[in-house]
Amino acid sequence: MKRIIIAIDGLSSCGKSTLAKDLAKSLHYAYLDSGAMYRAVTLYFLDNNIDYNNAEAVVNALDNIEIHFERIDGQNRTFLNGKDVERDIREMRVSEHVSPVAAISSVRRDMVKQQQGMGKRRAIVADGRDIGTVVFPDAELKIFLIADADVRTSRRHLELAAKGIDAEWDEIQNNLLERDRIDSNRADSPLRQADDAVVIDNTLLSEGQQLEKALELANQKISEVDA
Ligand code: C5P
Repeated sequence: MKRIIIAIDGLSSCGKSTLAKDLAKSLHYAYLDSGAMYRAVTLYFLDNNIDYNNAEAVVNALDNIEIHFERIDGQNRTFLNGKDVERDIREMRVSEHVSPVAAISSVRRDMVKQQQGMGKRRAIVADGRDIGTVVFPDAELKIFLIADADVRTSRRHLELAAKGIDAEWDEIQNNLLERDRIDSNRADSPLRQADDAVVIDNTLLSEGQQLEKALELANQKISEVDA
């Protein structure tokens, strides 16, 4: 079976990572959580008191940051300089700073280069904001996910609660909308739908239904590439 790249982009908390993980599992592909990388960089800046408005400090700090992923008990875990930070990077203090950090060009250059390296052998599902436009513009399948803002907030609320992270519904919604605003308006690689992306609105879809739709699209592309 041919190895394609599947790019999933969209606003915050619209189910991208759920769909990407489900697709990767069904197709036996790798999964790349690009947002986790921006979160890990942000965590490093916060924990090491790096002023991310200082361009030189940012470039120097990037030299000291190593991020990789490991699969442990079937779960994708993010490592920052050898430490498992999967839970820490989901905390609100990181969510509050990640979009300004992800708007910094030197940070994006570094992350995009690493992401492109991870996709060299294809057979990967990646989710983020610029996957179909910048990271893998040649991805065979590009999906742009959309969902209602209240539904996105409720899903995020449940997801954080399941991880034992306490946050108010309003605080979560404000953070989602603020990240959407910054991510969509930044100068470098703003979030936008690629011209050749397929839109899926999952507001009223279950996890299984969105997977079914996406798998149909993926299998179609795989058979085209295989032909
Ligand atoms: O996907 P997630 O919501 O965890 O991403 C956190 C933040 O990382 C986003 O709000 C965005 O600012 C940034 N990001 C990005 N480009 C990506 C993935 C995430 O700028 N490809």
